[in-house]
Amino acid sequence: MRGKKVFFWLVLVWAAAPRWPYTHSTPNYDIHTDTSPEFARLIGMHMETMHREYARLFARHGEVDVRSRVYVFARRDDLAELHGQMGGTGHVAGFYSGRRNLIAAHADGYTREDVLRTLYHEGLHLFVHHALDPWFPLWLNEGMAVYFQYSTWDGQRFVVGEVPTHRLTAVQRAIREGTYIPFEKLFVMENAEWRARGCYSEAWSVVHFLAHGQGGRYAQTLDEFLRQSARRISAASAFRNAFGRRGPSLGELERQWVHYVMNLQPTPKYRCRQNLRDIMFRAGRMGRVRRDAAGIDELRRAMIEYYGQQQTAEINRLFRCPFDHSPRGASYVLARRPQDGDLMLVCLHRPGTITTAYTESGRLSLIRIEEEARELVSPETWEAIRKAATPPQ
Ligand SMILES: [Zn+2]
Repeated sequence: MRGKKVFFWLVLVWAAAPRWPYTHSTPNYDIHTDTSPEFARLIGMHMETMHREYARLFARHGEVDVRSRVYVFARRDDLAELHGQMGGTGHVAGFYSGRRNLIAAHADGYTREDVLRTLYHEGLHLFVHHALDPWFPLWLNEGMAVYFQYSTWDGQRFVVGEVPTHRLTAVQRAIREGTYIPFEKLFVMENAEWRARGCYSEAWSVVHFLAHGQGGRYAQTLDEFLRQSARRISAASAFRNAFGRRGPSLGELERQWVHYVMNLQPTPKYRCRQNLRDIMFRAGRMGRVRRDAAGIDELRRAMIEYYGQQQTAEINRLFRCPFDHSPRGASYVLARRPQDGDLMLVCLHRPGTITTAYTESGRLSLIRIEEEARELVSPETWEAIRKAATPPQ
């Protein structure tokens, strides 16, 4: 009798759940979306590969053998509604629920890359929820999530440890101005306190430092620190158990971190993205975004003329992708977007993806940089790039 009742309720709940036009399943995830079937498959492929990255990091913490749900809404209000049903408030780009075993995001006004990055982030939280005790400190959890959020898809796997320009400059500024959270506070921070004063860039940089700093000396320690942090012991004990009695004090560790962060550079991918953004911005100020330009070299020459000869070296540098190993010339392709004929800058120097820069309706405050898996680029866009990359006969 009891069993029958439960079954009846399950049917009701199922009927009330949103109907998803597109679903796709992989070994670890069930993807539901109302965006497109291609995007559902892409999400599945990325999350499944990302799952292996999470598992690699948490290899010593036991296997996570749970199928999780991924919801991606086309409309942000639909996500907000689900978020509200689960006790959340306000508009968010994405969220996760450990208890309900799901991650969710929306694609309203976001590029596909943005949505995927939100899912890498929330997916890490959900993985941590399954792999470790839910007591895991929030500051460390968020630092790890942001660390994974910026991973680079190379067509086959993810490269972790990227240094995004805006995160780095935010931490460097906080260090210079003395507004960062000192390690003695950060490492013992209660979750409620973190919620009030979240400092995502700093948390990301501490994880980055532990994973890559000091010649990788702390990579093992980070692993142990994650394990210790998930035990119901004090943060001070977790730190001491992980770093050892002979290890650095929190003050020493903080000094090393400051040195590391102040000497860190954005990784080449982010330098390339900054180039694209800067060229697009300058071209906009010249009134070129919505006007025909003959090609990338013509734009570069016009830019030098417009900004003055003394900026020649700087402008020439902007037109070079760090991944371009050819001896000289502009690295990017200047094409016209098939959607609106506006200027579109394209970098083809990284395997697996292409990176494009464009504006929303010519507005310079809305410069978009987007990395996209090559197989997802539309035939019209490929045609526009091919046309632009081939010099006229
Ligand atoms: Zn988060």
